[in-house]
Amino acid sequence: MPPDPGFELKPTSTPMPAADRVARMADLGFGRVFTEHMVTIRYRAPDGWGRGLLSPYAPILLDPAASVLHYGQAIFEGFKAYRQPDGGIATFRPAANGQRFNNSAARLAMPALPIERFVEAADLLIRQERDWVPPNVGESLYLRPLMIATEAALGVRPAKEYLFLLFGSPSGSYFTHGVKPLTVWLSKEYSRAAPGGTGEAKCAGNYAASLIAQQQALDAGCQQVVWLDSVHKRFVEEMGGMNLFFVYKDGATSRIVTPKLTGTLLPGITRDSLLTIAEDLGYTSGEGMISIEDWARDVENGTLSEVFACGTAAVITPVGEVRFNGGGWLVNDGQTGPVAQHLRDALLAVQHGTTPDAHHFMHRVL
Ligand SMILES: *Cc1c(COP(=O)(O)O)cnc(C)c1O
Repeated sequence: MPPDPGFELKPTSTPMPAADRVARMADLGFGRVFTEHMVTIRYRAPDGWGRGLLSPYAPILLDPAASVLHYGQAIFEGFKAYRQPDGGIATFRPAANGQRFNNSAARLAMPALPIERFVEAADLLIRQERDWVPPNVGESLYLRPLMIATEAALGVRPAKEYLFLLFGSPSGSYFTHGVKPLTVWLSKEYSRAAPGGTGEAKCAGNYAASLIAQQQALDAGCQQVVWLDSVHKRFVEEMGGMNLFFVYKDGATSRIVTPKLTGTLLPGITRDSLLTIAEDLGYTSGEGMISIEDWARDVENGTLSEVFACGTAAVITPVGEVRFNGGGWLVNDGQTGPVAQHLRDALLAVQHGTTPDAHHFMHRVL
């Protein structure tokens, strides 16, 4: 192992006046406001990763032949830093994001970044941008790490040069209408992922391929698209960029079930965390194969009480109605259910440090 080349710090010499920052943080939404710095690390074969740099947030220069622009080697992550009750700041499971980043990199024949450097890059940015972490529950500093192939070469092969980049965006709630249940569109025409494809990787191309179906969902009066497996077009996989949970009555309690990771689903860290947290709260949890026929029948016979989506950006969002070409049904009469609300509150309490962190999910930064 070469010695850790560390990070060089070159912060802006003209920091934003506090009043300007406060004004920009007045109406956050999601992904519209960016902080003043970013972290970059360059990779070059055969030397490996170089020294990192914290510098002012700015556009990046790319050669027109940079292979990301042609062959799409591009991956990303998303996780959040939360204000804690004592005024400090902590991130939620950043090493899990670092591990998934490397899994995505491997699938796209890109180099792995040591997880400690991934976490260190985020800690460095957060310490620099501490005033950009908003104070209220449900608000956070969203962190967006990404890696692109920068080598100028048109031959089709894995690039020899890459750029890791990390920046932050203070965020309020992801969906502008709050936790109101969503109406979702079952996409039978398009697939997000196929066996042997890139469905498990958080790569930019998966999103590019999904946008047309998301547009169809909007055209049909829905807010989000629900993906089915591409082979049988029956088994529910995900909703947009979020994983799904189905809530079934289970004696005096409820059982939450999420579609099994078959290789075509993105293994969400929120999904994984909820499987654990739900058990702490007295629910049972597990994975399963859920078809659209099961979904319709179990709503009809009353055994399926709620459906919700989960992900870093929007935490937990209930699904209130399902539509597809030729039909549809309501879930829980279109209302937010008690289990979705309970799990959402419990997860936010861990993230904001107002309940004990039994599973050591939080990483203290400041
Ligand atoms: C990122 C993502 C998720 C959610 O993952 P989290 O780690 O919970 O944020 C789910 N599905 C897709 C397609 C994603 O890209």
